[in-house]
Formats: sequence, structure tokens, C-alpha cells
Amino acid sequence: MTDLRPALRELFGFDDFRPGQEAVVRAALGGADTLAVMPTGAGKSLTYQLAAMLRPSPTLVLSPLIALMKDQVDKLPPAVGATATFVNSSLGAEEAASRLSSVAAGETRLLYAAPERLRQESFVQTLRSIGVGLVVIDEVHCVSMWGHDFRPDYLFIRRALEELERPAVLGMTATATPANADAIAEALGRRLEVVRTSVRRPNLRYDVERAENAEERLRALLTRLRGLDEGVAIVYARSRRSCEEIARTLRGHGIVAEHYHAGLETDERTRVQEAFVAGTISVVVATTAFGMGIDKANVRLVALVNFPDSLESYVQMVGRAGRDGLPSDTVLFAGSSDASALRRFALGDVPTSELLRRVYRALREVGGMIAPELAETVGSAHDPRVLVGMLEQAGVVRRGYDAGRTMRVELLPAGAGAGATVDDLLRRYETAASARVERMLSFAEQERCRHLQVAEHFGETLDRPCGACDVCAPRRRDSAQPAAVAQPLPDDPARTIVDAVAGLTWPLGRRSLVAMLRGSVKAPPTARRSPAFGALGAASDAEVTRWVRALETAGALVEVESDGFRVLHARPVVELPSFRPARRSADDAPLVTELRAWRSRRAREDGVPAYVVLHDATLHELAARRPASSAELATVKGLGPAKLDRYGGELLSILARDGGDRSPAVAFA
Ligand code: ADP
Ligand code: MG
Repeated sequence: MTDLRPALRELFGFDDFRPGQEAVVRAALGGADTLAVMPTGAGKSLTYQLAAMLRPSPTLVLSPLIALMKDQVDKLPPAVGATATFVNSSLGAEEAASRLSSVAAGETRLLYAAPERLRQESFVQTLRSIGVGLVVIDEVHCVSMWGHDFRPDYLFIRRALEELERPAVLGMTATATPANADAIAEALGRRLEVVRTSVRRPNLRYDVERAENAEERLRALLTRLRGLDEGVAIVYARSRRSCEEIARTLRGHGIVAEHYHAGLETDERTRVQEAFVAGTISVVVATTAFGMGIDKANVRLVALVNFPDSLESYVQMVGRAGRDGLPSDTVLFAGSSDASALRRFALGDVPTSELLRRVYRALREVGGMIAPELAETVGSAHDPRVLVGMLEQAGVVRRGYDAGRTMRVELLPAGAGAGATVDDLLRRYETAASARVERMLSFAEQERCRHLQVAEHFGETLDRPCGACDVCAPRRRDSAQPAAVAQPLPDDPARTIVDAVAGLTWPLGRRSLVAMLRGSVKAPPTARRSPAFGALGAASDAEVTRWVRALETAGALVEVESDGFRVLHARPVVELPSFRPARRSADDAPLVTELRAWRSRRAREDGVPAYVVLHDATLHELAARRPASSAELATVKGLGPAKLDRYGGELLSILARDGGDRSPAVAFA
């Protein structure tokens, strides 16, 4: 066999291959259908780039990252870049056509495109006439994924491959268990030769750290970020809102941080990505949408604020640290409330069987030509392509080439009936998703070497202790941000709050005020220097928020607009509401009964279930505290502004009728 190293040296300037690379290049040159499973940073791109340069016919690279395509091509070494190009939606039709003809003319050997483009029949026909000999599928695990990462266009790759003149296939991924590898092969309709290198990343530390609530996580995160003396960090959070909140908190502590998630405009996403790669942002707080394919060498810390939905996702995310091979840290903050949240989240995104049936019926009615408005027709916020993709996964429809923006969908004969087939698929999906979630949670729960657990999950073993995880080599405890020691609750919290607001040098909005009173790291810098910082640390977030709202209702605090921000000012009022929690007593029973009777009446009148009017807990609290004004009513849990508005008057009159003989000491002491 010819030595490939001279070509490697000449085209890429590297002296030798890294583990696995040569085997993948040789497989691709020999026309074998191959799956390369190599961890992040192993050098997967080089394998198909070199193969493309040495193969007689052009190579198509399917990459899910439209935003990064230009960057990927620009970064190629000159000798390779000169014969590479991309087509995507950022180009005009003319430019795209001219790029494709340069491939047809043999001037370009390497063409990047997104899988979505395969839905254009003319594109596939052009590829066919060009005679593409190798199709590379980057992030190929997307072909067999479901749920949050489901990409319906990966389902079509198999069809497109059949239309071409049987090109060789090379799939690339950083994470695939042996079972995943089989699923990928099946989804592509090929038998794949698997080239696998170890998932082991010896330069990464895998830490799992307990953190029960948001405040603890933020403190621990700040400590980690402060300890970072070189390089940048990626922080992953589950929801878009927490990404924004965490980034804001970090900025409040002088860290150059920005958030990134799929809800941002494309321009904004590109800007954050580029700034991160350029090193002008030191921390990006992102959902999983961020980081795939970003070649940033010096990520020194990846912190997962929430549990990922699978061990595969965990490995993908933490794997973005230390691409340059230098020691880097990763940490997963684990807590039981987040575990419950993950269990809900993992299945929360799955469309219901009812919805999928509606989509199926809609498809039958319109004869399979479906505009993107489908989702509106069936009343769903899901991407219609995802819904159709799920029916396709179930095997009851087949989506073909698009006609412009319109999907063409063919209904397939369903043996047991389409509904039953869809239900069966959803059940299998839920079982699989739960199993992935439980595996992720047990990874964190078990006191077993983290590297070993990852290795085993991917079918490997380790022969010696890793020396680089919280189990095998506990970190010396950083002098963590000391948690605010909760002071006892003052006698008159209302007074404390109003005085705190009056004493502010810089006005605060409601949320920041609550953060300040509770002594939270979320409080803005000026608020952290206030003498009232942490004064209500013994009360909960929800409680302090209710108190602040009640003071607004009482007129002691007013919200005003200042420079586009809504901030609170203090106003002198004669009497402040009292917030002392009440104790329950047997004397409350008659009043609770009366409130229940009122609730049943209201529920009947409004045509809603009783608990929608008010919860039992709220009735009990009303009876125990017997609030006498709207402001006091507003401090009762379960009485938000809307309910106060609707029921406040009636409740106060019931409470006043009842309360003739009670003394205030009993009510509020
Ligand atoms: P992956 O896609 O597997 O995560 P990349 O293809 O982005 O990894 O490669 C990671 C880095 O390794 C790149 O900077 C690349 O230039 C470098 N690299 C790849 N192969 C070699 C090699 N044989 N010798 C030295 N560096 C390499
Ligand atoms: Mg890559």
C-alpha cells in the first residue's frame, strides 16, 4: 500500500497521522462504507479532506452547520481550500449554480452542503451528473436521533444516496455506542465498517459536584470561573431563560459573558460564535445548540449547570474542552430537583399521539402537498417538518423532494392502522428516552470513576484508575464563594424592604431587589454593597417576591420607568402590611369551610374546577392569617395579581364578616 504520509505532509503540513486517521482515509479511498467514531478533537475532518484530495471523483460533505460552512472552508490549508467550496442558503441561485459547475468541471473536489439541500431535486440531479463518488456525513448520529435533536432532513439522506450512482459513504461522529452504530447503519441503508478510537480524553477532568438549587450552582460556577487563569469557558444550561440569567449574573461579577441559544437571530448567533472563537468573549452560556463543530482550541472549562438528556450528550458537551490536548476541566452540577426537571423535560417535547394523528389526517385531506402552515392548521408549535419526520419514522408516510417551500408527502399503507403504528413508535421513543435519562442520572449518582463509566458506556474498559475525576482524585476544595449566612428574619420585613429601597444609591427593579434582600449572587454589583444585602436571606425567593408585590399594592413601593428600565421607588405610607407568618389552629376550621363553600359557588359560576379558583393550601393560609386589606391579601401564596383582581373583594368581605371577634395578635403573630 502506498504511503499516505507524503500527501499528508504536502497538503496539511502534518508529519504523521493521529490514531484512527489513516484507517479512515484508507477505507474512504478504497470505496468502503465506513463509520468513524472518534472523540472531539481527534481530527475527523482531516480524514475526509485528505481522502477527497486523493480520490478520482468529487466528494460531498453534508454538514449540519450552515453558519459554520464558510468558516470551515476558509480554514482549510491553502492547497486544499483552493479546490473546496460550499453551497447554502446564504448564496444567490446564480452563485450556487456557478459553484456547482466548477465541481462538475473538476476544478473543485470538495463540496460542503447541509442535508436540507438534498430536498431539492435539482440539487440531487446535479450531484448525480457530477458523479459524486464519496458522501461524507458529519455528525452522523443525527440520522438516528429523536427528540430535541431530531433533524428530519437526515432521514432523507438514504433516499438521496439511492438516487446517486452508489457513492461510498463515510459517517463521522464523536459519540456512538455499538447499538447507536447499528441504528446509524440501518438509517442509511448501508453496512458500515466501523473505525473506532478510544472515547478516552486523558487531558479532561470529569467532575460531578452537588448543587441543590440555582443559588448554589451559581456560587459554584463563579468559583470555577474565577479559578480559570487561561483560556475560555462554555457553560451549558437547559433553558434559554437560564442561559440569559446566568450570563447576566456573570457579567454582574465582572466576567465577559454572553448567552447563546436557538432563539437568537442568526446574525446575533454568528456574532457570539465569532467573538467566542476570536477570544473577545471569555464565557458563553448556551443551550446544547452551541459548540458543535466549533474549533476553539483553548476551552479550559466546560460547566454543565443542568443534567444533559443522555450520556452521549454529556460526552459531546464536555468534549468541547481541551481540543488542544492541554489539561482542561469539566464539571456537572448535580441536584435532585434538577433530576426531576430532566425527567419532565426529556418527554416534554414529544408531540402527543393525538397531534400526530391530526397531522396524519390533515395530510390525507390535502393529498400530501403540505405548506409550512401545516403546524397552524393542526394547532401546534412544533416544526411541521419535525412532525412529518416523526410520521416518517413511524413508517406511515414518506416525504420526498420539496416543491419550493411545500413538502410532498406520500401516505403509506399502514398494516395495523396508522394510529396504532404511531402510538407504538411514541411508546418505544418514551422508553428509550427514559432509559437514556436514567443512565445519565445514575452516572452522576454512582461513586464510580467517571472516565470508566463513560468508557463502559461506549463499549470500552480502562486498565487503570483515571486520576482525573472527582471519584478517583477529589479536588482540593476551592475557597468557594462563602454562602451568605442567613440572618434571622427581622421582626418587620415590610419595614426592612421599604428602608432598603429608600437607602439605595442606584434604583433596582423587582427581581434585583429580591436578589439583594436574599443575599443572592444574582444581585447586581451596587446592590451587593447595600447594608440590606442578605437581610431577608432566611425567607424564600417566592416569599420575598410576594412581599415586594404586596408593598406595591399597598402603595409603599411604586414601579417607575427610568432609562428604559422598570425600577422601584419607596413612598411614605401610614401603615405597612404585616408579613409575619401565621400559625394554623383548630379555630380556622369554620372559616375554611366557609371559604370552601364560596369556592364551589365561584367554580360553578365560572365553569371551572374548584382548584382553578384557589388551591386548598391557599384557603388554609387565608383562614390562618385573615388578611384585612388587599395589600395583605397579596402576600398570600397562590393569590397572584389576576386572582386578586377577580376574587380579592369577595374574599375580603368573607374574611371581614368572620373576623369580628379576632384580635390582630392572633391573626398575624
Ligand atoms: P474533530 O472534528 O475530530 O473534533 P478536527 O477535525 O476539528 O477534530 O481536528 C482537531 C484539530 O486537530 C484541528 O486543529 C486539526 O488541524 C488538528 N489535526 C488533525 N489531524 C492532525 C494530525 N495528524 N496532526 C496534527 N494535528 C492534527
Ligand atoms: Mg468535527
